[in-house]
Amino acid sequence: MADFAKFDAYVRAHTAEYVDELKALVRQPSVSAQGIGIDETAAIVLDRARARGGLAADALRVSSGPPTIVGQAGTGARTLLVYDHYDVQPPDPLDEWDTPPFEPTERDGFLFGRGVSDNKGNLMARLQAIEAYRATIGDLPLRVRVLYEGEEESGSVHLADFVRTHGDRLRADGCIWEAGYKDAAGRPTVSCGLKGIAYVELHVRGAAKDAHSSLGTIVPNAAWRLVWALATLKNDRDEITIDGFMDKVRAPTAADLQALERLPFDEDATRRIHGITRFVRGLTGLELKKKHFYEPTCTICGIVSGYTGAGSKTVLPAVASAKIDFRLVPDLTPDIVATLLRAHLDRRGFTDIEVVAGHGESPSRWPTDSVAARAAVEACRATYGRDPVVYPLMAGSGPMAQVCDALRIPVVGFGSGNASSANHAPNENIAIADYVDHIRAFGRFLHVFAGLAL
Ligand SMILES: [Zn+2]
Repeated sequence: MADFAKFDAYVRAHTAEYVDELKALVRQPSVSAQGIGIDETAAIVLDRARARGGLAADALRVSSGPPTIVGQAGTGARTLLVYDHYDVQPPDPLDEWDTPPFEPTERDGFLFGRGVSDNKGNLMARLQAIEAYRATIGDLPLRVRVLYEGEEESGSVHLADFVRTHGDRLRADGCIWEAGYKDAAGRPTVSCGLKGIAYVELHVRGAAKDAHSSLGTIVPNAAWRLVWALATLKNDRDEITIDGFMDKVRAPTAADLQALERLPFDEDATRRIHGITRFVRGLTGLELKKKHFYEPTCTICGIVSGYTGAGSKTVLPAVASAKIDFRLVPDLTPDIVATLLRAHLDRRGFTDIEVVAGHGESPSRWPTDSVAARAAVEACRATYGRDPVVYPLMAGSGPMAQVCDALRIPVVGFGSGNASSANHAPNENIAIADYVDHIRAFGRFLHVFAGLAL
């Protein structure tokens, strides 16, 4: 029997050193959107992967992409891929930080700094867990591979190409994704996928220029045209009515629904947070959770046309535009959405409406009973003394499909975040205790995923 009490004692004895190592990584800015500090951070991460994790690691690039770090350690029947990214979101707005974003600061048991939660904390914790495992339990009983990306926060532009080129160094039987969080009630969570996203803009041009609104009798109005087109995308039952769109939605399995039944969802608190008296369609219980986790969205994020300032201006707008995002579930993809939307509008005579596709990422969903998912649940149970909440997927998006769908690797995510970690926002933080627990959980996860008993 492996001695995880010894493992825990080792982690506790090294906590100050581990947190200092994380602070050094956070102190180095790595803002991919602005091209700041990427090479410098990659060098630190490569050094830590070798020195702390004992990995045989390299920094590789495809075309003009940033350094991507891949590495490997251990031997065994199973191979685990660890996906993390070393870049961070821009720290703005700076004046809303209580302490500077790149000066990691401890306060009341929390560590503040850009990237501590998303995603430098988990990246370091997992390397430290590998070291602690070797120091107290023995050789790694599996092969661990890592993939550390340097442009996740700016769209992972080169990742698909990287995976095509270097896929042989990434193949694995399971993958642990970058993040995971304790929920607002303090329960650890495990998730097995991500929704995808397709962002589009619709542009309508009517007359050559704005006109006096008395001409509304005879001059077409771009704002009305946009409204009529938008009204064909969804009905007042909140059903997406784009031709063929819902046909692409993969229904949850009986096992998915069973897991969904058990998933806690605090309806009262959620209604309170949003100041609403009822959910869409008046849904509640299983049907509400099913819609939230297994259905796509079509959200009007913004509409602009005509005069929207103070007072009145009797104007007939010449142009109108809307920004729309679709959160995607399998088997919808950004390309499919763009094609279906274009055909849908054309079929209704809206051939004049321009559709401009923006940011897109495919969804990625994996079984909640894969070897990786079951190992994560067992590791969390042993670490936290309670069953984690298992989510079929996280509400956010990310480059999971580029890695895991491309290489057919089942995914699971869990990590050191909390419900108020403020990813992408000022005062990003993790609790030091959660950081230590993630090291403890990841050590156990390696063991269970390798097929060994705790
Ligand atoms: Zn992230």
